[in-house]
Amino acid sequence: MTNPEPLIEVQGLKTFFKVREGLVRAVNGVSFSIKSGQTLGVVGESGCGKSITAQSIMRLVEPAGKIVEGKITYYRMDSHNNRTSAEVVDITSLNPRGPEIRHIRGGEIAMVFQDPMTSFSPVHTIGDQISEALMLHQNMNKKEALERAAETLHKVGMPKPYRVLTSFPHQLSGGMRQRSMIAMALSCNPSLLIADEPTTALDVTTEAQILELMKKLQGSLGMAIMYITHNLGVVAEMADEIIVMYLGKIVEHASVVDLFENPKHPYTRALLRSIPRVDKDIDERLESITGMVPDPYSVPHGCPFHPRCPSLIPGICDVIEPDGVRVDDSQVYCHLYNPEPAAVRQPL
Ligand code: SF4
Repeated sequence: MTNPEPLIEVQGLKTFFKVREGLVRAVNGVSFSIKSGQTLGVVGESGCGKSITAQSIMRLVEPAGKIVEGKITYYRMDSHNNRTSAEVVDITSLNPRGPEIRHIRGGEIAMVFQDPMTSFSPVHTIGDQISEALMLHQNMNKKEALERAAETLHKVGMPKPYRVLTSFPHQLSGGMRQRSMIAMALSCNPSLLIADEPTTALDVTTEAQILELMKKLQGSLGMAIMYITHNLGVVAEMADEIIVMYLGKIVEHASVVDLFENPKHPYTRALLRSIPRVDKDIDERLESITGMVPDPYSVPHGCPFHPRCPSLIPGICDVIEPDGVRVDDSQVYCHLYNPEPAAVRQPL
């Protein structure tokens, strides 16, 4: 069940990278919150800032990058998913290598990636790696931790979990490695699971099983999920709410129903036109989005989507950056819905 209070709140987050070519505003003023039991889908093309947003929450941004503005607040919940008033953690103020974030990372907030090999060490067995996380975060001894690891592997549908405990990552198939990574992430009963394209490399059958599994575990554990993907079909299955990102900014934030039934931002509409849908005619052509995502160090003036937008309002969209406006129950960043800039064009 969804708790009405946020578990994690991201306000005005800006994470920039200094690279040789210039300054990359990878995440540029992003705000959202996620509640316990809720799944927030984060979608957009490659390079739109989805993964850097997640890495900022985990304080895992690479050294060239830095959180330069904004706040990430984590509200620690008790075992019934109620807020404990004393336990409010300002994640942005923590030392990224300090003990407090290490306690949260992997224990209370866990992450699964597209490539499990980035999470697993190739030279240790799956059992050693999952049990190490449990000994660190749950104060278990080795025997208890291995028992819990086997239990969690069983929960994620792994056949012969005890045999998997003694296997090295390279001895498992892609699907089994992915399940093992999900088991490692879930072993400590995290409050928030951040899943960054966790099924992109898998075949559709394994993908469907893993999505089903995450939903089932969310139902029993009550955790929140932040599900990052470029695949709108997957978020349609998984998410309660969706944020659509483009060049480091949110362009639309809506419930899954509103986003699919009544998308408002031209970028969201273009993304939706580019995916196959069962409710569309079989011979209806899929459209690709015009143009390319611009260089991240030379983001266009005004609305960042304007060079590719079929609804561009010349003299406005290429000059003024749109503010967020509430349209029905969605938050949209587009001049089409904001009468203010139109006044700029009115003759005096
Ligand atoms: Fe298109 Fe203008 Fe809206 Fe940007 S603000 S999405 S350019 S109509």
